[in-house]
Amino acid sequence: MRVSAMLIPTLREVPSDAEVVSHQLLVRAGFVRKVSAGVYTFLPLARRVLEKIETIIREEMNRQGAQELLLPIIQPAELWRESGRWDVYGPELFRLQDRHGRLFCLGPTHEEIITDLFRNEVKSYRQLPLLLYQIQNKYRDERRPRFGLLRGREFIMKDLYSFDRDEAGLEVSYRKMYEAYSRVFARCGLKYRVVEADTGAIGGHDSHEFMVTAASGEALLVYCSSERCGYAANVERAPATPAPEEDTGPPRPLEAVATPARTTVEEVAGYLGVSPRRIIKTLLYETEKGMVAALVRGDRQLNEVKLQNALGVLRLELAGAEAVARATGAPVGFAGPVGLGGVPVVADPEVMKMRNGVAGANRADTHYVNVNPGRDFQVATVADIRVVEAGEPCPRCGQPLEQARGIEVGQIFKLGDKYSRALGATFLDEKGEARPAIMGCYGIGVSRTMAAAVEQHHDADGIVWPASIAPYHVVVVPVNSRDEAQMGLADSLYRELMAAGVEAVLDDRPERAGVKFKDADLIGYPLRVTVGNRAVEQGEVEVRERRTGHTHVTTPGELAARVRALLDAGHL
Ligand SMILES: [Zn+2]
Repeated sequence: MRVSAMLIPTLREVPSDAEVVSHQLLVRAGFVRKVSAGVYTFLPLARRVLEKIETIIREEMNRQGAQELLLPIIQPAELWRESGRWDVYGPELFRLQDRHGRLFCLGPTHEEIITDLFRNEVKSYRQLPLLLYQIQNKYRDERRPRFGLLRGREFIMKDLYSFDRDEAGLEVSYRKMYEAYSRVFARCGLKYRVVEADTGAIGGHDSHEFMVTAASGEALLVYCSSERCGYAANVERAPATPAPEEDTGPPRPLEAVATPARTTVEEVAGYLGVSPRRIIKTLLYETEKGMVAALVRGDRQLNEVKLQNALGVLRLELAGAEAVARATGAPVGFAGPVGLGGVPVVADPEVMKMRNGVAGANRADTHYVNVNPGRDFQVATVADIRVVEAGEPCPRCGQPLEQARGIEVGQIFKLGDKYSRALGATFLDEKGEARPAIMGCYGIGVSRTMAAAVEQHHDADGIVWPASIAPYHVVVVPVNSRDEAQMGLADSLYRELMAAGVEAVLDDRPERAGVKFKDADLIGYPLRVTVGNRAVEQGEVEVRERRTGHTHVTTPGELAARVRALLDAGHL
């Protein structure tokens, strides 16, 4: 294509609402435009990137024997009622009503629809296993859509569902998808880690996430420093090993002390001259089962996913100031487990080991010292509810854990018979007995993978696309588009590249060379071919690698072969 005829609206300015680099660069480089919060238009360059990611995904799914289909976006509420998720999915589900008053939702996921298809169309064990997938828009009404394509309300996903006769079959399907996903992200040119994951709202009993490592990643993951061990997990999931209590002395008498206007752990610790780990941090949460108080050591972070799992609740929100005052009789910052009537307490095991700790006294400007669990307060539940930190022991081998940030681009789940039982999706086994299908589900965020690629591959000048998913491989830039000889040579080189199977564009715009070079870097074509006077007069054509800045000088006659070789070498 000729750039003069293409819709590539590049911008020099960083858009003011773009918080993350992928959002900034995809807008500036003319790939996406925001239509509404979390809703984007994909411009032609982005569509090409998405198509390449989708092609890689299709090839790898098909390689494992999967079949593509297309399920509806609009899903009837009845199916979601059958699975029990209509009421529990919460405000993230986009709900709508037709003219007859019937309720529907915009699919955030398709377990119900596919399980319904299975129960209607699959009868016998001879038809199993089945691996069915689609690539399609998904909808999630995020409270606060942000980070551009990383957390949108409308996004593109590949979702695959496996149906097997038994758990052993599911294990085989799961391994197939594990391998397929590994190949997909490697082929997209992404550095990634596979981590153990929480199963969250989808349910099920085993799950892995594929994380593209990037400093800007929203997800925190830990991995074992021993490569032989290989343990890696999302911090939402990684179990914490309680550290030993440092106070080994006898329990001392409980005592109330004044802590005027000291509300945070740091302020209280500083005022009382103790280390933050001596403090029992008390956090009050509202859930659908009522209010709970969660206790972790003052130097630890509470892990809300673990807390949610420990309580078995779907809704978990930090209580507001009014609710805290009602429950404790004190302003925020002075809550504690001693004398906290009517609010069940869930404590991290480390808190239960504490001797002579410090906690809020449920009275303004007051804390207790010498608080001893068991003696001074009782708890309803003891559970690991804290975030694991770097340096703590690996739960598998005991070596120190390391921490990294990542962007979740894929997740695979073993669902078991959760949905097939709920919807009655059975098949007849060899003995003619009806048994529920054993299911797995497997998702890849396609638009999110595009954004994650930018998060991982960019520099100060713009995007650095891995060649396998770049919108085009090469931009041919005549230095002076008004120079007929240069334009003529550039045009013929562009045609030769196309004929050699290279995806090329010709930047024929009447712009200064500097502008075209800047745009080429911003858009992130893996290779730039520069055609200037030296090309016309001395037969020297320059090929520049976007990633390294390395420049190769070649002749017009050898250009196509040289470009082909650089692309095939696989390091772009
Ligand atoms: Zn380990």
